[in-house]
Order: sequence, then structure tokens, then C-alpha cells
Amino acid sequence: MYKSNRRRVETFVFSVLLCILSGWVGAQQDIAFHFGEGDDARLARSGTVDIGGIRYIPISSVIEQFGGYVDLAAGRAQISLDGRGAIITINDVQVETASDDFRLRHPLLREGDTAYMALADFERFFRNVFNTRLWIDQITADETAAPEQGEDVLDDLLAPLAPAPQETGRRRIRSIVLDPGHGGTDSGAVGPNGLEEKEVTLAVAQSLKRILEAEMDVEVVLTREADVELPDRARSNLAGQAQGDLLISIHTGASFVQNARGFEVFYADVPSGDGEGGSDSGVRYAARSRLLATAVSRSLSATEASPNRGVRPTPARVLSRASMPGILVEVGCITNPEEENLLASEGHRNRLAEGIARGIIEYATNTELPAGGAG
Ligand SMILES: [Zn+2]
Repeated sequence: MYKSNRRRVETFVFSVLLCILSGWVGAQQDIAFHFGEGDDARLARSGTVDIGGIRYIPISSVIEQFGGYVDLAAGRAQISLDGRGAIITINDVQVETASDDFRLRHPLLREGDTAYMALADFERFFRNVFNTRLWIDQITADETAAPEQGEDVLDDLLAPLAPAPQETGRRRIRSIVLDPGHGGTDSGAVGPNGLEEKEVTLAVAQSLKRILEAEMDVEVVLTREADVELPDRARSNLAGQAQGDLLISIHTGASFVQNARGFEVFYADVPSGDGEGGSDSGVRYAARSRLLATAVSRSLSATEASPNRGVRPTPARVLSRASMPGILVEVGCITNPEEENLLASEGHRNRLAEGIARGIIEYATNTELPAGGAG
């Protein structure tokens, strides 16, 4: 509001370019991996490379992020994690382990200090060698960082307008922000029959708003009411402007494992690491976010709408940037054809919204906030 019109137009044009660019970065097919439960959960992130039409991941980097190591010597890769391990000859498919040997579908490759494994092999490799279920998720555009140099411009455009809180006793939750993931040209994940994540997230959020307003004395605000594109920062800041006490971001899951199914509830607990002061304020609310995530996971389970994939921390910026407890609910795996069908039906969407609402109501009933501030 202190800028000349011309400067504002330039700023706007730049921010539009930035959105397009960050969407393009999201199209780089970044993958998140995690295994383990609760406090023991471990996360890794990686890009992929296309080698001869096969998607490969730099397994050295992923295993290191999990706390293990890959030793490349004498034409072989020795992959170790938590006292278990395997040996694979470079350019070969045979995996030697302490117990049963098995074969990969695609050969292990090497370039420089890095070994590459086909993404399609990684889950089974992980299960056979480390005796642990590995989850593989595609990071969609809205969970991918915008380029650093644009941050201050977006700050100017989208600065929160919320007034400073005043201290006067304690109060109940009175404002809930629902964030339907994706929108506009960002369709999110797409199911095998063409169902788009952005449509599911909006429908579930609208149903959830109706239920919460009918059953609680709260104001419910949606970050988007229509099929429009919205950067992450705008979502977090809209939540701040609405003086939300809770932020509920709705997404669907997407997995390369075709029969992966079920819902999963995430809470902000991992710093996004972008070096901005205060940008990780959501992490300050991790304990409450986790309580909320647990309540919602339990109530969704009770609807028996879909299998429960658990409660996990997430580095998603829409949560870590918001100054309130927040969760991200993946309401089902849109890449699973059966679950895609369910997600397309109004009855199932309402059942999911009902399940999420029960958890929010349970959490809200048991929670008192410091007056004025976000809780
Ligand atoms: Zn999504």
C-alpha cells in the first residue's frame, strides 16, 4: 500500500512469474520417503532422474538422510542402515543379504560417488533388507519451495494483516481455517481415471465447513472457495488474517505403489529450513498439532471409510509457516483406482468430512487457548 502503482504492477507480474516457476519446480517429480512411526519416523527427500525411460533415485543420498550409508568400492554398493545391509554389484540386479537373496527389476547404476536404484525397486528392497515398510510420496507443487529470491516480494504482497493479540484470560477455539490443496492450473495428483486432487480437496473442505458450522460455535474460513491457484505463502497468510486458531489442509495421497490406499494425517514438526526468521512458527505448535492430528486420525478410523496409514510429521510449508496449530490430512490415495472411485463419490467425501470434523470437535472440546493469540 506504500508503493506506486507502477511498482505494484511490476511486483504483481514478478509474483505471477514466480508462481509459474515454482509450479515448474514442483514438476521436477520430487519424492518424499518415510518409514517408522511417531517419534521414530524418519524422512528423506530426493529428486529422480530418467535413465532409459526408468525413474531412478540417488539411493546414496536417501539412505544417508535416513541415517545409514552406501559404500561404493570394488564395483559394488554396500548399503547399510541400523545394523542391516545388502550388497549389490553395480550394473547388476542381484541383491545379497544376510538372509535371503533376491533380484531387483532394474540394475543398480553408479555415477561418481552416487548409486542409483530404480524407484520401482526401492520399496521392496527396503522391506526385504531392512524389514520395514517404506512409504513413498510424490511432493506436489504446493509443497515445494518457491525460489529464495522471490520470498521478500511475496512477503510484501501477502503480509498478514492480523492485529497484535491482547491478553485477557483464556478462551475457546473460535476460528478454523480449512485449506483445500491445489487449485487452478495446479490440479494436484491425478487418478488413473482422471479425477483431480484439487476437486476432491475443495469438496471435502466445503462439506467439513458445513458440519463444523452446524455443530460448533466457530467461524470457518476456506483459503479458496473456487478452482483458483494459490501459493503456499498466501494460504498461510490467509490463515493468519482470518486469525485462525487451527489450520486444516486437505490433500489426497499419491503413491507409485498402485495398491497403496488409506488416509494419513500429518502435523508440522520439521523445520522447512529456508533460513527465514520466524518462518517456522508452525513448528512451535508441534505438540498441539500432533494432538489434533491424533484426534482426527482416530475419528477418521472410526468412520471406517478407509484404512488408517497413521500420524506423521511433515515439512509441508503451508503448516510450518502458519502461526497456529495445523494438520494436513491426505484423505485417500487418488492413485489407487478403487480409492479414486470412492473419492469421486459425494457420500464418501461427506463421510471423510464427518470423520475429520469429529476429531476437530474432540480436540476443541479439550483445548483452552491463551486469550487473543493463536492456539
Ligand atoms: Zn496435494
